[in-house]
Parts: sequence; structure tokens; C-alpha cells
Amino acid sequence: MAHPFLVKPDTKVKLSDHDPDERGGLKKGDPEVKQRLRDSRRMMSECQERMYAEGKQSLLIVLQAMDAGGKDGTINHVMRGLNPQACQIRSFKQPSALELQHDFLWRIHEWTPRKGHIVVFNRSHYEDVLVVRVHNIVPKAVWRKRYEHINNFEKLLHDGGTRIIKFFLHISKDEQKQRFEQRIANPAKHWKLSPADNKERKLWGEYTKAYEETLARCSTDYAPWYVIPANRKWYRNLVIAEILAQTLNDMDPQWPEPVVDVSKLVIED
Ligand code: ATP
Ligand code: MG
Repeated sequence: MAHPFLVKPDTKVKLSDHDPDERGGLKKGDPEVKQRLRDSRRMMSECQERMYAEGKQSLLIVLQAMDAGGKDGTINHVMRGLNPQACQIRSFKQPSALELQHDFLWRIHEWTPRKGHIVVFNRSHYEDVLVVRVHNIVPKAVWRKRYEHINNFEKLLHDGGTRIIKFFLHISKDEQKQRFEQRIANPAKHWKLSPADNKERKLWGEYTKAYEETLARCSTDYAPWYVIPANRKWYRNLVIAEILAQTLNDMDPQWPEPVVDVSKLVIED
């Protein structure tokens, strides 16, 4: 059965039909929640080790969200336990002058995972059909073609042995307000505040429309999108950890054959 938060390919998406408060009948701090998170992290870590040793496949995780949607927190809580040697995080900010002189995927391709590795994109090529669309940074005729370019690009990666999994962290507008207010109240979070926060918040409806079209057009069998209920951080972490553990397990990486005859190997004095 399809995962409840998976966006089925070629279906319309209405974010108002997805409850950002969903918690799967669980409660924060339940022993079950802790146990499931521990189990998923362990499975992720074991599979990663085998994938690294195998050196044939890779995993690309895309994180997208409204501001304060919890991308950083997800990386911090879900990816801990992975071996940093085989896991890279890449954040995509506004493109540089040089990057703008190339096609929009040029700067992305360089950071896709090499074999045996996991890469997390904190924002991604999807900004080029989200912020770019909402702010009219390029004409509509240009960004409209990008859905197809993205699907083709992701197919290319998939065919080369990269599993792709994409999470939209879905928070409500109220939750965003509370998170910004918590940042204002906490000096250790002041650095996260930006003059753009309020301006972008005013465009909530425009972003919602842009996300809905993106999720509908770019969720494919080979690179699915998930809409993750993200008002409750603990539930968001649990759901994502379980999807990732399951995905890595399905990839079924195998230990490579030893290059020595282990049965005859004796380490000399
Ligand atoms: P946080 O969510 O914690 O604030 P952040 O990812 O928003 O972190 P910032 O440095 O605040 O990090 O913002 C990066 C900005 O870069 C975002 O506003 C994003 O929309 C913008 N950006 C990313 N890619 C592109 C792009 N291709 N074109 C234009 N803007 C982009
Ligand atoms: Mg920001």
C-alpha cells in the first residue's frame, strides 16, 4: 500500500487537504515514539555502512519548506547517527553571478551524491520553480518549462543509480508565526531572523500555489514527493526517519565480496 504522505504521480495536490497537525494517534514522549525513532536511526546507519562499502548506489534527499518549516531541525535530528564520511549536506542559497550565467541545474548537478554516499539538499533546484515563480525572477515561459527539465534531470540521476526522495515539510501559517516569535524571544535564534521573513510570509498564498503545482507535477515513481505533517517536530522527525530507513532497506545494499580469501588469512607477527 502507498505511504499515506506520498504524493501519487499525476494527481492534484491541495495542501489544505493535508493536516499539518497530524500525529498518527501518537503522543510526544511516548515510549513507542522513542523506540521507533531509535530503530529507524539504527536501520539507516546499518544500511548506510553497507551502501558505502558496496559503492554502487547513492541516495539524494531533498528538503523543501516555507521559512521556519524545520529543514535545519530535520537534518539535525534525523541525520545524526549517519557516518559523516559518507553523508554531505548542501544548502542552496541565492545563486551567485556565475551560477546565473548557466542553466539552473548547473550548480545542482555538482552536488549530487557519488556512489556509496547520501546527500541532503537543504533547499534545491525546486527553488527555481518556487521563489523564482513567486517573485517573477524569470518570465513564466521560462519557469514553466522547468518542471519537465527537473523530471528529466531526476530520471538521469535515477538511471545512474541514485535513489531520490523529496520531503515538503508542511507547517501552518500560525505555526510559522509562533516559530518566528520564539526566534525573537530567544537571543540564540536571532541570527536566523531575516528582514525577508515578513515579506515572504505575506506571499504565503502564492507559495502555496507554487508548491501545489510543483508537488503535483514533479512527484514521479522514480523521485517521489512526500508531504510531511510538520507542525509537531517530533512527529515530523519520526515520519521522515521511518521513510528513509525503509528506503535504504529497500535499496538492499550488499557487502562486497572480500578481496582476500578470509578463511586462509592469518595476520603475520
Ligand atoms: P532558514 O529557513 O533557516 O531561514 P534558509 O534556507 O531560508 O534558512 P537563508 O540564507 O535565510 O536560508 O535563505 C536562502 C534564500 O535563498 C532563500 O530565501 C531562498 O528562497 C533563496 N534561494 C535559494 N535558491 C534560489 C534560487 N535558485 N533563486 C533565488 N533564490 C533562491
Ligand atoms: Mg530564511
